[in-house]
Amino acid sequence: MNKESKQFLGKLLKESSPSGYENSAATIWRAEAKKFSDEVKGDYHGNSYATINPKGKVSVYMSGHIDEIGFMIKSITEKGFLKIAPIGGVDPHVVAGQRVNVYTKKGSILGVLGRKAIHLLTPDERKKVTDIKDMWIDIGVKDKKEAEKLVEIGDTATIAVGFEKLRKSIYVARGFDDRAGSFVVLEALRMLSEEMNFSHKVTSVATVQEEIGVRGAITSSFNVNPQIGFAVDVTHTSDMPGIDKDLFGDIKLGDGAIIARGPNINPRLFELLVKTAEENKIPYKVIAESRGTGTDANAIQLARGGVATALVSIPNRYMHTPVEVVSLDDVENCAKLLAKTIAAINSAEDFII
Ligand SMILES: [Zn+2]
Repeated sequence: MNKESKQFLGKLLKESSPSGYENSAATIWRAEAKKFSDEVKGDYHGNSYATINPKGKVSVYMSGHIDEIGFMIKSITEKGFLKIAPIGGVDPHVVAGQRVNVYTKKGSILGVLGRKAIHLLTPDERKKVTDIKDMWIDIGVKDKKEAEKLVEIGDTATIAVGFEKLRKSIYVARGFDDRAGSFVVLEALRMLSEEMNFSHKVTSVATVQEEIGVRGAITSSFNVNPQIGFAVDVTHTSDMPGIDKDLFGDIKLGDGAIIARGPNINPRLFELLVKTAEENKIPYKVIAESRGTGTDANAIQLARGGVATALVSIPNRYMHTPVEVVSLDDVENCAKLLAKTIAAINSAEDFII
């Protein structure tokens, strides 16, 4: 991955974007998109659109959701502790004892997800997972009055960790799911704008609110009204202890683009992805999804009268934890595969089954 692209990815990952509060990450995405797109815009829902060849006859749509999981401040106790609700699928096993950033009107403030010391836990409590509703954020204030000067009901928080290198192209961050996908769709658009010869209208969308029910893909795929659509998300690797490969497929970091096959996927678009990967020597693997996926691809396929849809995924270890791990080579290969596949599309009719 080139230096500028990596810098942009790092910037995107540092922003906070819990579902419904994506704006600061979206602003960075749109600013980057303006460098090479013909049109960049937002909508009433918060989705961000970047288009090249707006007059093209074939309309191709790509989505990567820019929202991440996080917390919402529900109430403040008399002692000034912030009671919270999860935004999206937060794993209660991994959040207690972490630092968090609380995003307020005046900016981000540091807090901690407090937990009773192990010495004070009863034998029973030691074995149990604490519900998020029984957790709290401690921002170091003395009471409710002081807390209320800083934090408002409905403010959000995310775990306070950034984007760091583990080794070679292997990186760790929170919320690679799916800011990495929103990066991929823009990177693919950049590749298309720079070097490829084609006349399709291509719109990349940083969709909002996927983590709470693929909501931004519903509104944005209606708006774009494409014939062909690609969703880019992360998918679980099975390359760690304790995962049954027979059940989940054999997916590891460095496998490249993971191409889904199944009822949520247009079979001809699937074939074009595989053929393009083979011809361009882009590493890939196929995973079987036996029903509607839990990704933007589900909403895209069902938009209006139906859209020829595919799903390309980035292998991801430890999804929805503060230590999501991906290979930047996989991220780049996903972008390459999308750009080359879109450039290889002849006509939308080819995808009518
Ligand atoms: Zn997710």
